[in-house]
Amino acid sequence: MLQERKCAIIGCGYVGATTAYTLMKSKLFSEMVLIDIDRKKAYGEAEDLCHGLAFNAPMEIYVGDYSDLADCAIIILAAGAGQKEGETRLDLLGKNVLIFKEIIGQRRRYTSDAILLVVTNPGDVLTQLTLSLSGFPREHVIGSGTVLDTARLKYLLGKRFDVDMRNIHAFIIGEHGDSELPVFSSANISGIDLSHFCTACCTSNELCSAKNLHPVFEEVKNSAYRIIEGKNATYYAIAEALQRIVAAIVQDEKAILPVSTYISDYYGAKDICIGVPCVIGKHGVEGVLKIPLNEEEQQKFRASANVIRNAVDSLSLTC
Ligand code: NAD
Repeated sequence: MLQERKCAIIGCGYVGATTAYTLMKSKLFSEMVLIDIDRKKAYGEAEDLCHGLAFNAPMEIYVGDYSDLADCAIIILAAGAGQKEGETRLDLLGKNVLIFKEIIGQRRRYTSDAILLVVTNPGDVLTQLTLSLSGFPREHVIGSGTVLDTARLKYLLGKRFDVDMRNIHAFIIGEHGDSELPVFSSANISGIDLSHFCTACCTSNELCSAKNLHPVFEEVKNSAYRIIEGKNATYYAIAEALQRIVAAIVQDEKAILPVSTYISDYYGAKDICIGVPCVIGKHGVEGVLKIPLNEEEQQKFRASANVIRNAVDSLSLTC
């Protein structure tokens, strides 16, 4: 039987280990299994985390194998190579597809009642691959999508407008990668659209139109490259983003988050996993929200979907 308070993390590198730490602090689970091809690393992470349990809620954290996934409610897939300096996320495709084929090949050992949360890059392509190879229902296969990118946008807009970023409602959608796009046409601060907010509150003469906000988006888009140049990997914010998605599932929040999910038709983009705002609850993706997009945004969204489509088409989706 599925244990609702049991999760697993496959891949205990920078992202997996930081996510394990974040989930340990979250009190969302009572049991967490760590799996890594490098078992020594997994043991090191598990032991280190366990020593922190004296300061946290009781929890079982241990190194396991695929048979331990049989009753897991949520399985986070963070195994695989990360970006090196100058590499795009799509450059990781060849290496990470092989790893995912191996991992999803173990699918018979866990139940399709589980929810699979894909974080490894290129995220949308690997979400689609996971969906295709696992045979799981589409609402149970979720990519972290543009949740992190959206958080980065909110952070920068918060600074730009000098308001609490939690009052900013804006999305980045599309590929978690270079073709993603911001949806400025409906972005707002507590219901007030950005240019109106700017006219009312801003001291500078530069109105915050989509055109003037473009550099903010460019900064978001390039942030992973900058961070990787500085410290080889990004992991704190993605771990927070994963915890946010997981909390929405475990607590049946019906939260709206731009995860990567399978869409049949979204502004003409068809049959692809891509980041769009979704309702997240205990069944995983419980709804896809078709938010208003202007003509330019629709066109960019379709172009972004095409980037994913081309990458998916370059793979043979069989195990
Ligand atoms: P990392 O190299 O530190 O860790 C990867 C781990 O996967 C390693 O511990 C490795 O031993 C393990 N691994 C490799 N093959 C495996 C297999 N077959 N089975 C089990 N474990 C295996 O990398 P990282 O920095 O933790 O990044 C992990 C992935 O997450 C990368 O693809 C990275 O690009 C991606 N990422 C995604 C986002 C996002 O927003 N979606 C953000 C940051 C990183």
